[in-house]
Amino acid sequence: MVRVRFAPSPTGALHIGGARTALFNWLYARAKGGKFILRIEDTDKLRSKQEFVDEILNSLKWLGFNWDEIYYQSKRFSIYHEHAQRLLQDGKAYKEKAPDRPGEAVIFKVPQQKIKIQDLIRGEIEFDTSIIKDQVLIKSDGTPTYNFACVVDDATTDITHVIRGDDHISNTPKQALLYEALGFTLPKFAHLPLIMGMEGGRLSKRTGATAISDYRRMGYLPQALVNYLLLLSWAPGDNIEIIDIKEAIKLFDVTQVNKTAATFDLKKLNWMNNQYLKNEDPEKLTDTLVPLLAEKNYIDTNRLDREYLVSLVKLFQPRLTTITDFPDWADFFFVEELKIEPEAQKKFLTDDLSAEFRQFIEKLDKLEKFDILSIEAGFRELVRELNIESKALIHPVRVALTGKTVGPGLFEVIYYLGKERTKKRLSRWIKGGI
Ligand code: GLU
Repeated sequence: MVRVRFAPSPTGALHIGGARTALFNWLYARAKGGKFILRIEDTDKLRSKQEFVDEILNSLKWLGFNWDEIYYQSKRFSIYHEHAQRLLQDGKAYKEKAPDRPGEAVIFKVPQQKIKIQDLIRGEIEFDTSIIKDQVLIKSDGTPTYNFACVVDDATTDITHVIRGDDHISNTPKQALLYEALGFTLPKFAHLPLIMGMEGGRLSKRTGATAISDYRRMGYLPQALVNYLLLLSWAPGDNIEIIDIKEAIKLFDVTQVNKTAATFDLKKLNWMNNQYLKNEDPEKLTDTLVPLLAEKNYIDTNRLDREYLVSLVKLFQPRLTTITDFPDWADFFFVEELKIEPEAQKKFLTDDLSAEFRQFIEKLDKLEKFDILSIEAGFRELVRELNIESKALIHPVRVALTGKTVGPGLFEVIYYLGKERTKKRLSRWIKGGI
C-alpha cells in the first residue's frame, strides 16, 4: 500500500512551496488508495514553536489535505537512539566527544561508493559518496540530525514514496547510505521541481512566498489555491486548467510531474480565484462574508436582511478577484458617510450638474415601479430629452452614488441603494438642494 508523508518543520508558517509538496503527497495517496502521513519535524527545540504547528495544521485542514496519521519527532527520541545504538554495535558508527561540550555525538562512518537512485520525476540520479564526510547522527545533546531522524521515521512508519522538494536532493544519497547501513528497504523518491518567483530566483515575500494563512486572510478560496498549486508542476492534459480535486485524484500520477522549475504567477492565481469565486454558491459566499462585514460594522448580524445581502453579493460576484474585494468595493451600500475617491470627484463632479441631477430625481419620483428596467428607462428618457450622451450623466451619477468610477451596472446600483438613498446622495451635488 502506498504510504507517503509530508514532513514540515514548525519553524515557520506553511508557505506555497510546502503546500505544493503537501498537495502532491496527499493527491498521490488519494489517487492510489494509500495513506497520507503527517510528520512534524520538531527536533529543534529552540526554533520549533507550537504556534507554527497550529498554523501548519490549520492551513492543511483549510486546503482540505486530511491526514491519516500524525507523528511528532520530539516524541520519538528513544527510537532514534535505539537505531543509533544498533549502528554503534555493528561498528558502522562511532562516538565522539566535543572538547567543550558534555555528552557524546554519534557519527556515521560514510562508506565510499557510487549510488544510483531512480527518481520518479527526474529519472536516474548518480551520486559519488566519496565527497561526503562522516555524518553526525545524534548530536552531543541527544538531538537527532535531520537526515538520521528522517530515515528512521520513513523506514519505521513504512513510507513507500518520499515526495519532496528538490532542495533536498543532496540529502538523498546520505539517506540512501543510512537505509543500507540500517538494513531498511529504500523507498521510492520523487523530487519536485523548484518554484521560482516571477523575476526569477527563489520565491520572495513579494512574489508569493506568503503564508497560506495570509492567502486565506486576503480572500482566496482554498479550492482555487489548490487548483493553482496543482498547475504549478503538473498538467491534467487537454489544456485543462480548471480542475475539480476529485477529477485530479483520478488523473494524477507523480511520474507525470514536470522536471522543470515552476514559476509562481500571482496574476494567474488571481485569475483562478476569480474563476472559482464566479461559480461559488452565493449563499456560501455570503456566509464567509458576514463576519468580515460585521467586523467593519457594515452590518448588524442581529438585524440582517440576508436576502438583500445575497443580492448584493451576486451583483459583485462575477468581478471579484478575492473575497475581500467585496467589502472594499461594496462599501457604499453599507455606510451613511460616503467616501468619494478624490480623483473621481475631480473628474466627474467638478461641473455643476444641479439641473441634470434634479431632473433625474424627478424622473425617479415619477416611475410607476422602482425596478431596474424602469430606472433604466427613466434614465434613457432623460438623456434623450437633455440631448446629451448617456456617459455624460452615467459617470457623475455613479461617482455621486458610489464614490467610485467602476462598479456593477448603475441601474442595479440605484435599485439596491433604494430611492431615498439615491436621492439623498444626488442632492448633495445640487445647489440649493431639492
Ligand atoms: N523537514 C523537512 C523540510 O521541512 C522535510 C524534508 C523531507 O521531506 O524529507 O523540508
